Formats: sequence, structure tokens, C-alpha cells
Amino acid sequence: MRPDGGDPIREAARLLAERRNAVALTGAGISVESGIPSFRGSQGMWGKYDPMEYATLHAFMQSPRKVWEMLSEMVSVCGFAAPNAAHAGLSALEKMGVLRAVITQNVDGLHQAAGSHRVIEYHGNLDELICVYCWKRYPTRDRWTPGAVPRCDCGETLKPNVVLFGEPIPWLAQEQAEEEASACGVLLVIGTSAQVSPACDIPRIAKESGAAIIEINPEPTSLTESVTDIHLRGSASEILRLLLKELSPGNDASPSAPPGR
Ligand code: NAD
Ligand code: ZN
Repeated sequence: MRPDGGDPIREAARLLAERRNAVALTGAGISVESGIPSFRGSQGMWGKYDPMEYATLHAFMQSPRKVWEMLSEMVSVCGFAAPNAAHAGLSALEKMGVLRAVITQNVDGLHQAAGSHRVIEYHGNLDELICVYCWKRYPTRDRWTPGAVPRCDCGETLKPNVVLFGEPIPWLAQEQAEEEASACGVLLVIGTSAQVSPACDIPRIAKESGAAIIEINPEPTSLTESVTDIHLRGSASEILRLLLKELSPGNDASPSAPPGR
């Protein structure tokens, strides 16, 4: 029998405590409990907006007004969202010296709002707009109003500084993410269906470099049967609460969601 008695939460907590060198890879699922729909799944945005019609660079250049219909919805939903207990849990793990960095595919800024310091934004952030012509940047709140297509001083359309399908990953984020994945002892993969490339390669890079892969997701994914060592089945906030409890025995205080931004 294993020293943890076969309890996957205990086993995951033991790995985190022993190695003290974890990195988290997060996806849309970690923000579902903050009221931001994921892309896939029954409540997902793709049920409403076909990604090939709404989320490619080509679609944006052809018809920015149409793509801004979807973007506007995301900007306003994310603007009202506050971090939940799972974001707070990762921030607590960082403070405890257990978690080194968060690599996020999310564009909602909720990890930083929860107090995480080292956040690698693999797909950019909705809080900034960039001109598709002169590349001037603006804070989204300065230029965006619901229903309108934001414009640069030069007159051209502004695009959120996020990665649409057909765009490359920002080189620094890609480099840092691969470095973190190669150096970590544990990769916590939270709330991602791991279907978006190249983010879906990060767990494999970590695994090949010797990391244990702990997946937190209510559903199995393509990773579960391939690279995952421990699948903790449940919502991100509940599993992080259990992990933190296990890591700080005697402290049943669950990480509550921090106040909104
Ligand atoms: P996805 O929509 O493909 O998959 C979401 C995953 O989260 C699923 O596997 C689902 O089972 C899981 N999940 C659902 N609820 C959960 C919960 N409470 N706790 C833990 N897991 C939960 O998401 P993806 O893999 O991140 O890919 C979507 C792409 O779209 C990413 O690039 C992402 O950046 C972007 N996106 C971002 C946001 C955001 O910024 N919040 C929202 C939607 C999409
Ligand atoms: Zn411009």
C-alpha cells in the first residue's frame, strides 16, 4: 500500500509538498465558477459562436464588426467577473512556496486579481487593445464601449491583445512557459480540455522532463489517459480547497474568493 493510503488528494498534496516546485497550467474551466463560460461543453461559447467564423485572425480582418459581437460579450463578462476560490487557492500555494508560476490560457486577468505574482499569459489579455495597422496599444477601458468597434487614433480597427486562431503565441510567453514546464517537479493542469495547440503540448513537455502531472477537471480529457498521473475529479475550487487543507493540517480555512477587482 502507498504511504498516502491510495487517496489521490493526499498523494497529490504529498507530491506538491515534497517537490515544492509546481507550476499550474490553467484554462477556461478555472474561471467558470467566476461566471465566465468556457468555450467547449454545454454552456460553452462555441455553442453560440462558431470559432471559425468568430475567433480567427482572418475573420477579424474580414469582418471586425462581426467578430467584435463575440469579443464585446467576453469583454463585458470578464469585466464584471471576480476571482473565485480556485484562483485564490493558487495564489495561496504561491505564498506557501509550493507553486512557482501559473501559465494561463485565459485572457481574463483573474489570476493577477487573486494575487498571483508570476503569471504567464499564453494567449494575451482582454484588458489591452492593439491597432492592427500601427500597433499602438490602449487600455481596453479607454476605448471600448458596448456595441461599437473600437478605433485607433489612426482610424484603424483595434483588436484585443489576445491570440486568435491563426496568430502566433507571444514569443516571450511561449519561451517562459516551455522553460517552466521543463523545470517544474509537478504540473497542475486545471480546467483545460487541452485541445488548443500549442498550449496542449505543455503537459507533454513537463512529463518528458520528469514532472508529475496532476489534472484537476470534473471530466476526463485527452490528457487523462495519456500523460496524467493523478486525475482529481471535481471543480477547481473544491479540489484546491481539499489540497490546501491537506497541505496545512489543522487549518480548515478554505481560501475564500478575494474581493473583486
Ligand atoms: P475549454 O472550454 O476547451 O475546456 C474547459 C475545461 O474546463 C473542460 O475540460 C471542462 O471539463 C473543464 N471545467 C469546467 N468547469 C470546471 C470547473 N468548475 N473546474 C475545473 N474544470 C472545469 O477551455 P480551454 O482548454 O481553456 O480552451 C479554450 C480557449 O479559449 C483557451 O485558449 C482560453 O484562453 C480561451 N477562453 C478563455 C476564457 C477566459 O479567459 N476565462 C474563457 C473562454 C475561453
Ligand atoms: Zn493605429
